[in-house]
Amino acid sequence: MGTYAVTGSASGMGRSVVDILVRDGHTVIGVDIKDADVVADLSSPAGRRTAAKTVLERAGGVLDGAVLAAGLGPAPGRDRSRLIGQVNVLGVTDLLEAWRPALARADRAKVVVFASNSTTTVPLVPKRAVRALLEGDVERAVRVLRVYGRAAPTFAYAASKIAVSQWVRGHAVTPGWAGEGIRLNALAPGAIMTPLLEQQLATPAEAKRIRSFPVPIGGFGDADQLAAWVVFMLSDAADFLCGSVVFVDGGSDAWFRAADWPRPVPARQLRRYVGRMKEFGAQRRASRTS
Ligand code: NAD
Repeated sequence: MGTYAVTGSASGMGRSVVDILVRDGHTVIGVDIKDADVVADLSSPAGRRTAAKTVLERAGGVLDGAVLAAGLGPAPGRDRSRLIGQVNVLGVTDLLEAWRPALARADRAKVVVFASNSTTTVPLVPKRAVRALLEGDVERAVRVLRVYGRAAPTFAYAASKIAVSQWVRGHAVTPGWAGEGIRLNALAPGAIMTPLLEQQLATPAEAKRIRSFPVPIGGFGDADQLAAWVVFMLSDAADFLCGSVVFVDGGSDAWFRAADWPRPVPARQLRRYVGRMKEFGAQRRASRTS
């Protein structure tokens, strides 16, 4: 049986993950702003530090896995874009950086980060905002997104999920993560019936937009089913899963982007591709001699 940290443990999909893990006999350390083993506000640096430290103390310095589900949806509000950046991005990256040594101490630890299919289905998300979030500069991202006015939180949300997805893919394959035996992946749900979605459906205009959004399989996803995907991604069956973003979204991403991925490496990226081959060879030789 393992020890797992789960953020966003008080509600929705995070809570469903906790229920399954506990039922299966694992030890779970839940983190949330309320009703959790570790109560911490992930929108502040102090809250993130408390969460990171307290979880490590409770886990005795070894984590078999982590699920980063805490997140804010794209509701309206003046400070919303800033909060989205803080919780959805830094609430993932700050915690995972702090927990990485504890994950490395376990045998084949697994991490699942909650992304979203907003990453590929929201048009015109500015790359500059994503870059700023990846650099941890939430204020810069907020400034970039100001041009969207009242719609800024929608783009902040998509940008935050693109940033964490790219962070996962970039870090998963490095010596510090894959090299230490940690499997780092992301799950990208579509619209799932949780309090987060209920909040969006409570606004008539937003409800109309959500209900008219293409979902080929129809309806909304179920939190317990999504949690089962997470638990699968934490299991031994996921030993060979590394740096993946798994879409469970009723087909919306495929509807909009069927031809975008997979696709061949374009000629203009060939030099970079060959460079990456060489880099990998050098890393492998270095790890053999160390
Ligand atoms: P939810 O609102 O039910 O749960 C989110 C949890 O995050 C809550 O318990 C909340 O208290 C916690 N949280 C929010 N702000 C926090 C803060 N400052 N500090 C600590 N905890 C905080 O939402 P959910 O739908 O279960 O979402 C889980 C994850 O899935 C989120 O990252 C969300 O962005 C993502 N997601 C949800 C959907 C959907 O349709 N529900 C779709 C795609 C992605």
